[in-house]
Amino acid sequence: MTIAKRYDVPEIEPLASFRGTVEKVSPMCGRKQNFGFVYHREGQSQHPEHINQLVIPEWQRTESHIFRQDSDAYLFHVAVKYGAEPRLNTRITGIEVDPATGAVLRSDRGAEFRAKYLVDASGYRSPVADTFGLREEPTRARHHSRTLFTHMIGVTPFDDAAAARSHKQPNPWHHGTLHHVFDGGWLWVIPFDNHDDSLNPLCSVGLTLDERVFPKPDLTPQQEFDDFLRRFPDIAEQFRSAKAVRPWVGTGRLQYSATRTVGDRYCLTAHAAGFIDALYSRGLTNTLEVVNALAWRLIEASRDDDWSTERFAYVDALQQGLFDVHDDLVYCSFVGFRHYDLWNAVVRVWKSTSILPTMTVEKALRTFLKTGDAQVFLDLEKTETPGLPDPVGKDITRLLEFTRHTCQAVESGELAADHAAAALFAWIHDAAFLPAPFELGLPDNRYFEATPHLLEREGEWAGPRRPST
Ligand SMILES: Cc1cc2nc3c(=O)[nH]c(=O)nc-3n(C[C@H](O)[C@H](O)[C@H](O)COP(=O)(O)OP(=O)(O)OC[C@H]3O[C@@H](n4cnc5c(N)ncnc54)[C@H](O)[C@@H]3O)c2cc1C
Repeated sequence: MTIAKRYDVPEIEPLASFRGTVEKVSPMCGRKQNFGFVYHREGQSQHPEHINQLVIPEWQRTESHIFRQDSDAYLFHVAVKYGAEPRLNTRITGIEVDPATGAVLRSDRGAEFRAKYLVDASGYRSPVADTFGLREEPTRARHHSRTLFTHMIGVTPFDDAAAARSHKQPNPWHHGTLHHVFDGGWLWVIPFDNHDDSLNPLCSVGLTLDERVFPKPDLTPQQEFDDFLRRFPDIAEQFRSAKAVRPWVGTGRLQYSATRTVGDRYCLTAHAAGFIDALYSRGLTNTLEVVNALAWRLIEASRDDDWSTERFAYVDALQQGLFDVHDDLVYCSFVGFRHYDLWNAVVRVWKSTSILPTMTVEKALRTFLKTGDAQVFLDLEKTETPGLPDPVGKDITRLLEFTRHTCQAVESGELAADHAAAALFAWIHDAAFLPAPFELGLPDNRYFEATPHLLEREGEWAGPRRPST
């Protein structure tokens, strides 16, 4: 929404809401009304209270399960409409950069392109990262995982499974992204068929494992998935009639990073810069944060014909910050997966990291819609913790540091997981910056839904503490 309004590209706005996405972009997309987490222990029945959920309310536009082939085609044609010159089936294999004049790109078919500035959004095999040796080896990511994923038909809603019958979460699991979590990994279930207007019977399914705990076996991904389901019969129930309808993708370790993401006349974005894990679905939001910070810089640099690297320095700080925040969250979550109490505490850290910055960004958007003054977005960039906006950035950073140190102590065997959970809950409970009405520090409050009533109570709680904008 911010990008659509700030840069005056109304075609992007529908993607900011579930309704807009299915009505204007594609009815093949699904609804993401919640982030749901069901905790499992191998060899034990699922404990009905070991569940957590964050509901994404309708007033917050409900999110979508983006069906990438459709949304990519839509955005591709929007870009063409605004003047982008499309080059299909063009693989860039050679790059030269002259800091004084710009970049020259060569394709595998011998075509040559010249540009004043190069934005490399090509993902893991980024030719810019290759050319300038930007991959951090080894990556600084603490988190370790590999994944196998596909699209399936015939996945039944987990709400219909025996294990879910006594669950009391506020929103059906199938109305959102379901995460089955267990010691050593997690499994995602992302349905595209979960609303009345859906024309798409598919469901995205992926199993992500710590490759140090579960080294890649000498099996096909389908065999490995079937093996996994045999060990977790409560999860298996929703896959009884499921069938993969596209080839499985099985990866090695997923994490990679870049020593820097901005240089003379170039910038790496999003997946070209680095990747942690699909947990918490931060890929597209992080990507759009980078687009938001990069776009006005490109526009101004082009107006001034001044492409000096300092103008883009914040984009690097932002991307490195987003990477580190995501790494902390996922690293701590995987340690949390060892013991429900610890996971129940770590999931509050994720909720805090998600909810508070979202409230800040939503507030900036509301101010912009009222005043039309983009200064409010420039002010958001004035943070000592790029990737986390002020005023909450420093507080969240302290919370993440405490959580990371606590989880490292659990990993090294210095601290028992239940003691770590108690310490974390106490920290969260006493944190003055976390709105008391949200009750994030109460272990039994396992669901979060930002109802208008809760927000009203948060407003009363914040009262004079809140800086005016
Ligand atoms: C398993 C998995 C699950 C995910 N789940 C989610 C999720 O649930 N929610 C979410 O928000 N995000 C998710 N993501 C992340 C999301 O897909 C990415 O954040 C997003 O796609 C990044 O966008 P990008 O433009 O950087 O890269 P990409 O979408 O990967 O696009 C890169 C493009 O560059 C092209 N390219 C590559 N090399 C060259 C070359 N040499 N020359 C020319 N073109 C080239 C590619 O063909 C591709 O079109 C997931 C990612 C993975 C791996």
